[in-house]
Amino acid sequence: MALGGCAAYYAAMVITYKPDAPDARLGYLIPVMLATLTVMILIGFQRKVHRSADSIGSQLKQLKDSDEVGLIEVSDSEELVSVAKPLNEYLLSIRKNMNRLRSENRELQIQARIASAEKHHTEAIIFSISDAVIVTNRFDELLLANDAAEKLLGFQLASAVRKNIDRIVSDGTLVRLIRETRSHGSSFTRKVVEHNIDSKGVPRTFSITLSCIVAPGEEVSGVVAVLHDVTREKDIARMKTDFVSNVSHELKTPLASIKAYVEMLMDDEVEDEATRGEFYEIISTEADRLHRLIENILNISRIESGVVKVVREPVSLPGVVKQVLDVASPQAKLKDLKLVSHLAPIYSQVEADHDMIYQAVMNLVSNAIKYTPKGGQVTVTVGVDELRGVSFCEVSDDGAGISVEELPHIFDKFYRVKANNKLAKGTGLGLTLVKHIVEAVHDGKLSVASTEGDGSTFTFELPNIK
Ligand code: ADP
Repeated sequence: MALGGCAAYYAAMVITYKPDAPDARLGYLIPVMLATLTVMILIGFQRKVHRSADSIGSQLKQLKDSDEVGLIEVSDSEELVSVAKPLNEYLLSIRKNMNRLRSENRELQIQARIASAEKHHTEAIIFSISDAVIVTNRFDELLLANDAAEKLLGFQLASAVRKNIDRIVSDGTLVRLIRETRSHGSSFTRKVVEHNIDSKGVPRTFSITLSCIVAPGEEVSGVVAVLHDVTREKDIARMKTDFVSNVSHELKTPLASIKAYVEMLMDDEVEDEATRGEFYEIISTEADRLHRLIENILNISRIESGVVKVVREPVSLPGVVKQVLDVASPQAKLKDLKLVSHLAPIYSQVEADHDMIYQAVMNLVSNAIKYTPKGGQVTVTVGVDELRGVSFCEVSDDGAGISVEELPHIFDKFYRVKANNKLAKGTGLGLTLVKHIVEAVHDGKLSVASTEGDGSTFTFELPNIK
């Protein structure tokens, strides 16, 4: 505007200029001055525009380095306002978009954090499960597995992750089950399959639960397989069935012989007094056997339910062992077994329920006799460990022994060592009762050491009377 004004004024001066007018020199001076003025104004204007342009430039440079989108200020140049205005409008729209993106980014970060926390949470749950768990994706590649799965299937998660399941798991059936579940499955798919897997050379039975991973409205994106070891449960179920048949057999055998001898006596088939006496003896022994069996079952359930009546009194452990050996020696003689005893002095005493301790010693001694083949030896030792304040009773034999795998289970209810079944009949309750009597009732300790084919040593200890 200023430039336009100057030009107009200068033009007017040139038009009205007359050289032949009086004071012509002055007349020349005026246009020169006007021109000079105009040039000066132009230079000033140019400088102002330069300054404003520089200011815009440096403001834009600052904006480039800044995280914030500021606006451009052009205070001393009206001409550049027309440039700055649309530029500021543009910057405002950038600022708006940036703010929107920032809040979306924040939202995404929060969601990513939640997702990561949930992932850790899920992993923690999976790692804390004692069952083996493996998770695969839609390409049957391993995504996740817990320690139990690593141990059972013999791989390391770190090196196996993202590898196809058939390269990690050698059990073909398990691989097939996972594949089938993924390819035929839907969000409702959850199948349970029982399958045997070799664990370090030992076959174990697993109940495998396979479920599909499906996000709402999407296809199956993976499979979770949970392998629950049911070997023990199956064994117990089998043992219970065996127990029922064993108990009924155990009950039936003495009952049948009692019935037979009673019938013979009733029918007057026995003439001489000596044979009759012998029959009465057999009936009495068989009745005792029945009584013992029923007592064993009842005692275990009484101790377990806490209703057992314990009569504590000073008891001489060597004395109890002597009583047991007196009763058991005919049984040992029948099998040609040597029954040896090393007993501590009779006066060492423990506070205990006499009948229960008798029962415990009797079960150990009769087991030693039962599971030792003819001609073997059973040794019973009773001693006192003054230092530890305990008395101990050790029953050892050179009989069948028990394998390392079966040893941890022999105190379980109804458990019988298969290999030894042919040596003697039983119910698998005797040792359960001994453990209950020694540990639950008397706060003692029962232990066993055994070598298959070489014999066993059962030891229990009870606190001495102080
Ligand atoms: P059972 O009525 O079968 O004898 P127990 O509970 O007394 O039941 O014993 C459990 C199993 O432990 C037995 O079936 C037997 O196989 C094994 N066992 C117990 N004592 C001995 C032993 N002294 N030697 C070898 N095996 C034994």
